[in-house]
Amino acid sequence: MSEALPAPAPAATIILKPGKDQSPRRRHPWVFSGAIARLLGAAVEGDAVRVEDSRGELLGTGHYSPGGSIAVRLFDFGPAAQLPSPAFWEEKLRQAYQLRRSLGLAGGNEQLLKSPSQEANNQQPATNNQNTNVYRLTHAEGDGLPGLIIDVYGDVAVLQAHSVGMYRARHELATALQAVLGNALRAVYDKSAETVPAAALAEAPRNGYLLGAGTGAEHRVVENGHAFVVDWETGQKTGFFIDQRDNRALLARYAPGRRVLNTFGYTGGFSVYALTAGAALVHSVDASKRAIELTERNVALSAEADAFEAGRHAAFAQDVQHFFKNPVSEELYDLIILDPPAYAKHLSARHNALMGYKRLNMSGLKHLAPGGLLFTFSCSQVVSPELFEGAVLAAAIEAGRPARILHRLTQPADHPVSLFHPEGAYLKGLVLAVE
Ligand code: SAH
Repeated sequence: MSEALPAPAPAATIILKPGKDQSPRRRHPWVFSGAIARLLGAAVEGDAVRVEDSRGELLGTGHYSPGGSIAVRLFDFGPAAQLPSPAFWEEKLRQAYQLRRSLGLAGGNEQLLKSPSQEANNQQPATNNQNTNVYRLTHAEGDGLPGLIIDVYGDVAVLQAHSVGMYRARHELATALQAVLGNALRAVYDKSAETVPAAALAEAPRNGYLLGAGTGAEHRVVENGHAFVVDWETGQKTGFFIDQRDNRALLARYAPGRRVLNTFGYTGGFSVYALTAGAALVHSVDASKRAIELTERNVALSAEADAFEAGRHAAFAQDVQHFFKNPVSEELYDLIILDPPAYAKHLSARHNALMGYKRLNMSGLKHLAPGGLLFTFSCSQVVSPELFEGAVLAAAIEAGRPARILHRLTQPADHPVSLFHPEGAYLKGLVLAVE
């Protein structure tokens, strides 16, 4: 893989105002527009730039984004910071992959994916875990790659760019992925159309394959031994909510014998774990008809494999509040999961989001039997764990339901948070024992 590197394109330099160098020196990846004194050279949205302090010392390199309040997203730090090249991206992805390998999520299980050509190339297979072949390979700032999400579904990777810089680098990134994953990678799909800021692009972004192609066949992955169908082409986000993997496993411990309601269920992750673990009954609710179809498919797959009665499951393509107002039975549930989409995408929406969480949790508590468990989540990055707990507390007070916290939950290890960028923590959850 060591071809001669192209000479890095001349990059513009951002000079920071005096005293504004502390944040990049502490490896915080965001340079705000107010910290910038001037731009030397020319740069447009998505260009790689160098960032220097007021005395000309190099602090880092990153992607330029002049329109927003975050003007540069840094991917390298210090006086030796590099501008991106194919080798630079490959090294970044290799580091991300090594972390997943060390977590037991990726690479190393020769039995699972070995093929003769792989052996010849001495390539690493995509998973070392017989039970799981779906994981997040890059979690943006958490992997020193602001604006870049890559999720791996067996032999297919789905790339989602959240910045113009990463979007423009997508072909190089796909090539780098191929170099790191080798024959374990069959295709790379670009799912950036809904996430990349499109205003600065000459052409409207379109989703599609960067490498390989779709097969037209159903694509199955395995998570903790449970089979799921993933459809990245038509599904939400990259196709599957990998971030709930550990929390689904926890749920399985409490599901046996319980009547479970899984709201905002998407493709039924929690429902499948609950049914397999021996829940007495599971109801799945999601507003998306396609999500409910996939939920039913996933439940059927697990019912086949684990020989359980799929009749213990029913799915409803409905708005959750409508479902709560018109429940299918008067009987209460013993365990309820509330996993809504992010209610606040920006700070300005935080107050309304907290009111939304309070309302939702009140509705959930109303349908929970005394002694029941509530798994309640928020994936709004701007809502801190403390604020979320406050909203759930307000709901419990108003519903008149004393409750104790059994677990405080978060995102799994393949969604790491840089200590220098606490903003990367977004998923929070509580498991409550409710009286
Ligand atoms: N718990 C899921 C992920 C939830 S994502 C998992 O483990 O995979 C949020 C889901 O909420 C999406 O599937 C979306 O279709 C659904 N949704 C959004 N608003 C809704 C509403 N008002 N009522 C029901 N479902 C809704």
